[in-house]
Amino acid sequence: MADQAGNENREEAQFDVVIVGAGFSGMYMLHKCRGLGLRAVVLDAASDVGGTWYWNRYPGARCDIHSMDYSYSFDEDLQQEWEWSERYSPQPEILSYVEHVAERFDLRRDIRFDTTVVAASYDEDANLWHLETSTGETWSGTYCVLAVGCLSVPQKPDFDGLDQFKGPWYHTGLWPHEGVDFTGLDVAVVGTGSSAIQSIPQIAKQARHLTVFQRTPNFAVPAWNRKLGEEEVREIKENYTAYREYARWSESGYNGEEAHESGHDVSENRRISELERRWAVGGFTVLSTFSDVGSDLEVNEMVADFARDKIRQRVDDPEVAELLCPKNHPFGTKRLCVDIDYYETYNLPNVSLVNLSDAPIEAITPDGLKTTEKAYSFDAIVFAIGFDAMTGPLLNIDIKGRGGQSLREKWVDGPQTYLGLGVAGFPNMFTVTGPQSPSVLTNMMSAIEQHVEWISDCLGYMKDQNLDCIEAAEEAERDWVKHNLEVADTTLYPQADSWYVGANMEGKPRVFYPYVGGFGEYRKKCDAIAAEGYRGFELGSAGQQA
Ligand code: FAD
Ligand code: NAP
Repeated sequence: MADQAGNENREEAQFDVVIVGAGFSGMYMLHKCRGLGLRAVVLDAASDVGGTWYWNRYPGARCDIHSMDYSYSFDEDLQQEWEWSERYSPQPEILSYVEHVAERFDLRRDIRFDTTVVAASYDEDANLWHLETSTGETWSGTYCVLAVGCLSVPQKPDFDGLDQFKGPWYHTGLWPHEGVDFTGLDVAVVGTGSSAIQSIPQIAKQARHLTVFQRTPNFAVPAWNRKLGEEEVREIKENYTAYREYARWSESGYNGEEAHESGHDVSENRRISELERRWAVGGFTVLSTFSDVGSDLEVNEMVADFARDKIRQRVDDPEVAELLCPKNHPFGTKRLCVDIDYYETYNLPNVSLVNLSDAPIEAITPDGLKTTEKAYSFDAIVFAIGFDAMTGPLLNIDIKGRGGQSLREKWVDGPQTYLGLGVAGFPNMFTVTGPQSPSVLTNMMSAIEQHVEWISDCLGYMKDQNLDCIEAAEEAERDWVKHNLEVADTTLYPQADSWYVGANMEGKPRVFYPYVGGFGEYRKKCDAIAAEGYRGFELGSAGQQA
């Protein structure tokens, strides 16, 4: 007898659905599959549930979307009973929530942890996906759902000499579970993206000296984080159905103030007062002060100027403040950071900033690192250098579709998908929050629920119709890719060297990876396609050409 993964005699464990990833996406997908009476299994490289919140345990890690929005909405009892303590939940609390969900819905019994999928291939004759793990097991299913996340492959700190460094080094995205005590140490942080901006103020509290190495400054807006008040939570919970419904059809998947006027249509006084008002609210509200912040460079520059002035007000040393002011990309075109005391940290005597823009890191040395200008010594280094985003987790797996076609080859010039849900030539394979879906430009919880529900509705439809093969049509895919790029070109996003365009990875194709046409609009499109019998997909049953 073979066990579920055929460890004994290499027989395969066979399921209706094999899901890769046990973060928010994979967990909900499993729950939905069970509801449809489908046999499903989840595979994850991690030792427990949580995905992002399992791996990213660096000090200061927390969500940048309000906790009341950044949570599942699919179960009324769950959302009523769970209590968030802060406006932006810290990572340990989000992880407790994930663990609670896993227990509440008894998910772990169908999740195989410490299981890394290295290859997946579609067997046309059997209409099965075979997934291979790093230990040589094979898991098979009619459908393969890749819930591998958009930010789950940390970028390797590929610096010469790293192996010679005498002290410990860390990547924010692979933080040790036991935590790190920096007390009394000289510490370097490389990077100034969201992970760095969250962790720098915390590391500075412990380190003897903290040196931040900045290649590009980022815009950050204040979180004004605080404990959630009983009254505000009660109000939201009493109206949670309507609250969630608003998020579902909104531009960005959460309850926030949307813009109603162009930045050109307001007087200077009104512009400043509106920006001040939104600044006082904090978070992403600032990004939507005017309807054209993301599309009109002149309006964007007004907001950018305002944000730069705030940096100058918060940082005592004018030279440091100037270094921290972003000047090479429009406001919000790199992921806007939401900060707690980030800029004030540079006023501390034990914190310094090194500008890498003219003198990049040349190598890591046994004692620290050297830029093209100078050598520095440290006891520990923290790399907050980001991820091989969006396509990285998918292309990490050697995926072969119909006729042995390789996804890596198909996507050599950038991803090609239909709705970020399916790929032509790869039947019965779905991607949750895949490239060319709104994903990272939204509250990901909303995006995840929308995708998982769309996929599970589709699987239910297939089951009811006695079908078992679905594949995106080439033409529908071509049109979607074109539409994606056209919409992106109406915005300022492509102007920044961000991970949204793959600019953070050498050699990565420069295209726009997420869909920027708005979450509510995207949902309407997906719903219409489903209502029309999955227009743009070819449906069939095994033995018959789809
Ligand atoms: P993930 O949580 O990334 O889970 C994917 C899982 O797949 C991982 O556990 C991984 O181990 C597993 N996996 C991947 N490849 C393989 C493989 N080959 N074999 C086996 N297992 C594999 N989004 C927001 O909307 N708001 C926020 O505030 C926010 N904060 C964030 C903070 C950080 C530090 C980061 C990195 C991201 C943040 N995000 C945020 C985005 C976040 O990734 C999503 O909100 C969400 O958690 C993604 O869930 P997921 O299940 O889709 O993917
Ligand atoms: P990131 O935004 O990609 O930032 C990486 C930083 O490292 C950048 O400042 C980058 O500089 C720098 N860097 C990369 N390689 C470098 C090198 N060789 N030398 C010097 N500097 C280098 O990554 P992240 O901060 O981990 O965030 C990734 C995404 O995860 C975020 O955008 C967000 O979506 C999500 N996230 C959210 C939160 C939250 O607030 N809830 C927290 C963390 C992460 P350049 O800009 O010059 O490339």
